[in-house]
Amino acid sequence: MNPLIDLRSDTVTKPSPAMLEAMFQAQVGDDVYGEDPTVNELQAYGASLFGMEAGLFCPSGTMTNQIAIKMHTQPLSEVVCDRTSHIYVYEVGGIAFNSAASVQLIDGVRGKVTPEQVEACINPDNIHFPVTSLVSLENTCNKGGGSYYTVSEIAAISEVCSRNNIALHLDGARVFNALVASGDDAREYGRYFNTISICLSKGLGAPVGSLLLGPKRLIEQAKRVRKVLGGGWRQAGFLAAAGLYALQNNVQRLQVDHDRARQIGNVLQETGYVTEVMPVDTNIVIFTLAPQVNMDGFLTYLEERGILASSFGPQKIRMVTHLDLSEEMITSIMKAISEFKA
Ligand SMILES: *Cc1c(COP(=O)(O)O)cnc(C)c1O
Repeated sequence: MNPLIDLRSDTVTKPSPAMLEAMFQAQVGDDVYGEDPTVNELQAYGASLFGMEAGLFCPSGTMTNQIAIKMHTQPLSEVVCDRTSHIYVYEVGGIAFNSAASVQLIDGVRGKVTPEQVEACINPDNIHFPVTSLVSLENTCNKGGGSYYTVSEIAAISEVCSRNNIALHLDGARVFNALVASGDDAREYGRYFNTISICLSKGLGAPVGSLLLGPKRLIEQAKRVRKVLGGGWRQAGFLAAAGLYALQNNVQRLQVDHDRARQIGNVLQETGYVTEVMPVDTNIVIFTLAPQVNMDGFLTYLEERGILASSFGPQKIRMVTHLDLSEEMITSIMKAISEFKA
């Protein structure tokens, strides 16, 4: 049997032999005591990449985002984000559950908001309104089909936030895709964001883990919040070793994923049964099937050829490229797409 071609997400990757070897070799200790050298190295390395003081290694991007929101809000305050943001749509309503904060949603374009939209959301100092205390951006934007902000767009939003004394957080689950596509320098991000969450287990290929980056004092407090959420982990260095390996070896190759996603997007454009392909800016392809195509039927057709994709709303399908795909797999995907009869 041919190996499964799994395009549901870039989270499905498995550690490569070289990554596993790095995990085997890891020096570890009890991280709740702050004594795991590999965790400490990963946290310092991640922070230095983004020009931040400190980092906190956590099990998931949901946890790093939720801790950041907790750090920047109080009950009776408000978070501003795009309507399609992961923090709002896919984190189980955690903003209300963990932080008892309110949310103001912006209708951005493919997940991206403008400085003017952010400014218009800031509540006046009036007893009727929650206090606007945090703006959160996502880069790249998952529901925007992998669209990305450039550093100059971020700088303009950051200016609005600092002028109004509002914190700015980045959900950078796929920030390295944005950096590779834009050519921007990661260290510049540290100037504009108060906190940054990055995922090691998306396109970078680590099995588990995310980092929250920020100022030293904030990260010390964040460590308490991680503990109360049950996220104090012991010899986590085995996982941190995978994360370090990912950061040091798997960033530049993201360009390959972007090129392959674009190839898939181009083939979809040429079929008669797809009405829209979102512009393919990074490693995510989102497209809409014509009304006469049965979506489940299409997904089953792909599955019979060993290809898995995700349904992403009515008639919408998402495919995500990643480092566990081979050139032959990409060829099979393109062949299956062109041979489908609606
Ligand atoms: C995957 C993802 C996260 C974090 O998800 P976890 O599964 O909790 O690690 C956060 N934001 C975005 C945009 C994501 O795609």
